[in-house]
Amino acid sequence: MPVTTDSRLTLARRPRRLRRTDAIRRLVRETHLTPDCFIYPLFVCEGRGQRRAIASMPGVFQLSVDEAVKEATAAHADGVPAVLLFGLPDHKDATGSSAWDPNAAVQSATIELKRSVPGLVVITDVCLCEYTDHGHCGILDGEEIVNDATVAHLVQVALSHAVAGADFVAPSDMMDGRVAAIRRGLDEQGFEAVGIMSYAAKYCSAFYGPFRDAADSTPQFGDRRSHQMDPANVEEALREVEADLAEGADIVIVKPAMTYLDVIAKVKMRFGQPTAAYHVSGEYSMLKAAAANGWIDEPRAMMEALTAIRRAGADMIITYYARDAARSLRDQRA
Ligand SMILES: [Zn+2]
Repeated sequence: MPVTTDSRLTLARRPRRLRRTDAIRRLVRETHLTPDCFIYPLFVCEGRGQRRAIASMPGVFQLSVDEAVKEATAAHADGVPAVLLFGLPDHKDATGSSAWDPNAAVQSATIELKRSVPGLVVITDVCLCEYTDHGHCGILDGEEIVNDATVAHLVQVALSHAVAGADFVAPSDMMDGRVAAIRRGLDEQGFEAVGIMSYAAKYCSAFYGPFRDAADSTPQFGDRRSHQMDPANVEEALREVEADLAEGADIVIVKPAMTYLDVIAKVKMRFGQPTAAYHVSGEYSMLKAAAANGWIDEPRAMMEALTAIRRAGADMIITYYARDAARSLRDQRA
């Protein structure tokens, strides 16, 4: 039956015109996800031929250096430009001394990666929590983390990564003044070309749970509220970012991502500096768990999550989905 004239609205704008076909939607799309924005985190353990599944993070593995090189090579072939390395040492002690061992997993993996995949950007996590027997991010006095003594050790860790060939070091500890100290330490040793990607606004989040399984870094007592940020605060995040930039951070990270999109947006708008968001383990595992139950369409949910993080203002996204998303984007193009 033809539509009667009476039922027609007179509208200056009909936004649906711009959503009518896929080609039109592509033309008016505001946010573009590309593999160029992905950073792929890898958990590197000791030994050879190790590829241990992490129960709470399906599709993510603890990898020995040889396996990490294979995984990173494959990610690079998928179009992912960068990896972020976390170390899983066999030896842990009170000061986390294996963190600056030149032969430890992260240092060895960095050397191997720069040799076998020179085009890949290698970023290394700088913290002590994976290396301390108490699981805290720094040196303890009783149950207190001593800021300045911890920073001195972080500089040593960062230097050992620079010596191995890291392009960027990524301090994730949230100690005060560590960016300036690391910058000075690197410059003094002739590593002025090595950049600092700082976890500037890192919140004390429940969404890190699966990572602690993966990295075996759950604190033996207490929590990380004395150095990680209160989820309720955003002005404080801006002060943290401002301080890290002033101290010499080249790239700032907001972590986690999806529950902090407003923080990402404000950081990007206020400072206009290269900004990364960490789509953390819990965000990944929630999607995996829901997908395993058949409750969500995982590929769509993955792309929607990553697009939203980018729309908020992230230039880079650190995500366990880096390879899947890069492949999915390539398939869309094909
Ligand atoms: Zn830590």
